[in-house]
Amino acid sequence: MNNLEKTLSIIKPDAVERGLEKEIKDQFLNNDFKIVEEKKIQISKSEAEEFYKVHQTKPFYNDLCSYLSSGPIVVMILEKNNAILANRDLMGATDPKKAKDGTIRKKYGISIDKNSVHGSDSLENAEIEIKFFFKD
Ligand code: UDP
Ligand code: MG
Repeated sequence: MNNLEKTLSIIKPDAVERGLEKEIKDQFLNNDFKIVEEKKIQISKSEAEEFYKVHQTKPFYNDLCSYLSSGPIVVMILEKNNAILANRDLMGATDPKKAKDGTIRKKYGISIDKNSVHGSDSLENAEIEIKFFFKD
């Protein structure tokens, strides 16, 4: 069934810093995602806190927000059939050590916190996250 969706993807600071931007984008393109919009930006800590507010009670929240705001990131709107799930599959498990072979986090992730990519986890959050970065 046709179910074209948009999801938000972020190439996180650890991956941008290692020059993996093009390689990771190629993973999306090779898996039939269309990159509808993209921009390279650096966000402030308070913007990171807003973006990750669902995690505000977690012990890793402060470090996570410091990390996401620590350097340039690439934010993208990806489009594909069932894009949200397809992107979560392509990314792999949060902890790169547990991610399956062939996934982006398995290939490039360094650790559970420096796991190279973010992807929306639901239709509702995809809409919120896309609006967060692409307001216009
Ligand atoms: N994270 C972390 N420690 C943990 C769990 C998560 O540093 O124990 C970080 C990790 O970078 C992860 C992000 O917090 O990508 C958001 O966590 P979530 O559970 O939403 O994982 P994701 O949706 O990114 O797979
Ligand atoms: Mg998540």
